[in-house]
Amino acid sequence: MLLYIPTKVIEEPGAVLNHKEDLSALGTKCMVVTGKHSARENGSLADVQEALESQHIPYVVFDKIEENPSIETVMEARDTAVAEQCDFYLGIGGGSPLDAVKAISLMAYHKGETAEYLYKANVDSTAYPVVCIPTTCGTGSEANGYSILTIHEKRTKSSLPHKVFPKMALIDPKYLLSVPASVLRNTALDALCHLVESELNTKATDYSRMFVEAGFKAWKPNRDILKSGKLESEEDAARMLRASTFGGMAIAHTGTSLPHGLSYGLTYESGTAHGKACARFLAGYLSQVAQKDRLHVLDAAGFLDLDDLQEFLRATCGLEEIPDALAEHIVLDLSQNPKKLSAAPFAVDPSVLYAIVNY
Ligand code: NAP
Ligand code: FE
Repeated sequence: MLLYIPTKVIEEPGAVLNHKEDLSALGTKCMVVTGKHSARENGSLADVQEALESQHIPYVVFDKIEENPSIETVMEARDTAVAEQCDFYLGIGGGSPLDAVKAISLMAYHKGETAEYLYKANVDSTAYPVVCIPTTCGTGSEANGYSILTIHEKRTKSSLPHKVFPKMALIDPKYLLSVPASVLRNTALDALCHLVESELNTKATDYSRMFVEAGFKAWKPNRDILKSGKLESEEDAARMLRASTFGGMAIAHTGTSLPHGLSYGLTYESGTAHGKACARFLAGYLSQVAQKDRLHVLDAAGFLDLDDLQEFLRATCGLEEIPDALAEHIVLDLSQNPKKLSAAPFAVDPSVLYAIVNY
C-alpha cells in the first residue's frame, strides 16, 4: 500500500490572502497561469495579485490556457517563463490551467529540453514549485501530480508520465459561486467519475478507498443542486469542491480507468467537455463490474440503480449519440493505452469496450 500526497491543502474562505506569506518561500518571481476569462471574473486573479504584491513578489500573468490545454500552449508559456526568469508557478482555474501550470513548470525547469520531454518516461521530473487554486469542482488537479495535455498529432489527450504535485492548494469556495450551470454539472460529473473509477480499479487499496469514501460523502448530497444548476451558498460550493479534491487524491493513487480513457478521443473529435465525456461512459463501465460492486458504488453516490444514474445524467448533461466511426476511433485510442486497460477490474477486449460505448 502507498499513500503519497505531498501537497499542503488549505480549504477556507479567504484562503489566498490568508496564506499570502507562504508564497514568499516558494520563489523570487512568479508566473500566474490562467484561462482566458474566468479568473478575472470570479475574483481569484485579483486576490492572487493582491497577495503577490503585498509580499513584493514580481509576477507575470499568462492567460492563454485553452480548455484541454495543448502541448503548443504549454511550450509558448514555458518560453515566456524562461525569458522572464520565473522560478515559481501559480495556476488558477479549472483543470485546464491547473494541469498546464504543472507542465509549464516542469519544462521551465528543464529549459534546454524540447516538447518531447513532456512524454519521456523515467527521466528527471523535477519542476519549480507550483501552487494551484481550483475554481471548478471536477478535476482535483490541485491535489495530484497529473497533467493531461492535448496531442494534436495523435488527435487525442494523454497524461504526462511526470508527476508534478503542487506544493500548495488554496481552495476558496467563493470562486465557484459564479460558475455557469454547464461547468458546475460537467465538472461535478468528472469528480463522480474519478470516485467511481478509483473505487472500481485494480490499483485500489484501503488508502485510496479512504479518499473515495470521503469524496462520495461530499458528492452524494448535491443531486438537487446539480439538477437546478445553481449553487445557493458557500457551504454548498465548499462541499462540491471537497468531493472534487478527494476524487483528485483518490486517483493520485489509482489513476482513472476506462471512462476517462474513452473520453479523450471523444473530447478531441467532438469537443465534448471533459466531465460530460467521461460521464457518457460511466453507466456502461458500471454495467461490466460485479453486481455487488456496482450496487455499492451506486448507493455511495446516491443512485438506486443504473437506470436512475442514466436518467440523472441525461437530465443534467445529456448523453450524446456516438456514431460508429467515432466509436471505432475512441476504442482504438483506448486499446493503445495499456495503463488504462489494466485499471479495469474485469477482462477487457474490443467487444467489452464497444458494449461500454454503446450502453
Ligand atoms: P476547464 O477546461 O479548466 O474550464 C472549463 C470552462 O470553465 C472554461 O471556459 C473556464 O473559463 C470556465 N471556468 C473555470 N472556472 C470558472 C468559474 N469559477 N466561473 C466561471 N467559469 C469558470 O474545465 P475542467 O473541467 O475543470 O478541467 C478539464 C481539464 O482538466 C481537462 O483538460 C482534463 O483532461 C483535465 N483533468 C485533469 C485531471 C487531473 O487529475 N489532473 C483530472 C480530470 C481532468 P476560462 O477558460 O476563461 O478560465
Ligand atoms: Fe477527469
